[in-house]
Amino acid sequence: TALHAKTAPLADADLLVKRDQSRLIHPHLPGDTTDRIVMVEGSGCRLRDAHGREYLDATGGLMLAHVGHGRRELIEAAAGQMAKLEYYSSFHEFSNEPSIRLADRLIGLAPPPMERVYFTSGGAEAVDAALRMARLYHHRRGERDRTWVLARSLGYHGVSYGGAAATGMPMFHQGFGPMLPHVRHLTPPMPFHPEMYGGEDPTEFCLRELRETIEDIGAENIAVMIGEPILGVAGVVEPPGDYWPRVRELLASHGILLILDEVITAYGRTGHWFAAERLGVTPDFIVTAKGLTSGYFPMGALLVAGQVVDVVTRDEGFVGGYTYSGHATGCAVALENLAILERENLLAAATRVGDRLGERLRRLEELPVVGQVRQTGLMIGVELAQDPATGEPLPADRVPPLVRERAGVIVRNNPNTVLISPPLVMSDDEADRVADAVTEVLTEFATRRRSGPSA
Ligand code: PMP
Repeated sequence: TALHAKTAPLADADLLVKRDQSRLIHPHLPGDTTDRIVMVEGSGCRLRDAHGREYLDATGGLMLAHVGHGRRELIEAAAGQMAKLEYYSSFHEFSNEPSIRLADRLIGLAPPPMERVYFTSGGAEAVDAALRMARLYHHRRGERDRTWVLARSLGYHGVSYGGAAATGMPMFHQGFGPMLPHVRHLTPPMPFHPEMYGGEDPTEFCLRELRETIEDIGAENIAVMIGEPILGVAGVVEPPGDYWPRVRELLASHGILLILDEVITAYGRTGHWFAAERLGVTPDFIVTAKGLTSGYFPMGALLVAGQVVDVVTRDEGFVGGYTYSGHATGCAVALENLAILERENLLAAATRVGDRLGERLRRLEELPVVGQVRQTGLMIGVELAQDPATGEPLPADRVPPLVRERAGVIVRNNPNTVLISPPLVMSDDEADRVADAVTEVLTEFATRRRSGPSA
């Protein structure tokens, strides 16, 4: 299963690790940690590091890499566009051919009220743009007090100041404040954790809390609500089917806009182009990134519904852009990436391989350390529990190390849910290897905990 048999381990692999330690700041890595995995090569779902060790990529990097690593078509799309025109500004009246073709393609794929696209360099920038557009929409219509943003606990929206403010995880606020003001976090529905709802049905609890919050802040002060259609980083939690349609209806009745953050879910991960279709909800904004280019180019796309477009583009237009908005090479790569997703039927593959993995991994619910296994398409969360009967979470320091230690399968601990989100091109054999590795590690972990009080 060699990748490119000719590539030997790098002669200076150890030196690279040392230089990494002295020169790089990594997100979420304590400074005194010496471990590094220096990736040098990829093909499909396989990766190789500088020391020549091979891995199976069961997270698609950070939940992207939809079409797999090393795709010749994307290399050619980038090279072809760079040879013609690598980049030009999208500010004012300037444009470029691939950005127009891509915007047209995205609106063709998106649910009907989406009418125009605003390009960014990633997810958090697109979240910020959506928040800015939502406030501007109300401001220009004369409702200048509509500044509040409703977000959700456990939601993740990136680490720009707007994105971090909307993110509902305390670690992204502590030490960084003051955060963007006028943000209120609501409870998301997590049926596996009934203790969060004091005996009430989770959806009813959430809807009641939303109604009470609107009353408390005053609808006339609220601009927008933002949420992930399916909680991603927080552990792959798909809400009950009536949650989003009812939230949407309630918001609309109060003139409050809705942003769906589909940075993880868009472009096939759930078996659909957008999770909004799956959940039967039509928002005012859809935030996307990651799978748009499968990670071959850093890019995000904010899709905006017609009624908002009309307001934010009038007068002097939408103020503010990013240097790389509508990057010609990025857009050319995205177009080819979408073509591959379609040509190779990768949306259907996400469902098929996801179901196969889900079926295997659900058996782990029998282990005394596994609370719940959740799967939507090719995104899977294996929630670990102190006591599966009550769902009490396992303290983070008790979670076993990444499965990569075993069998070279990379998954993500986050912190008490194992996240699995491989490229959509993963083969059945590879999926079985992932299931084997996770099963082996968690079975061993359960045995160790049973046999020793401090294990
Ligand atoms: N929103 C969601 C739902 C995400 O999962 C992420 C990234 N994991 C982001 C926003 C931020 O995207 P980026 O890191 O590209 O800024």
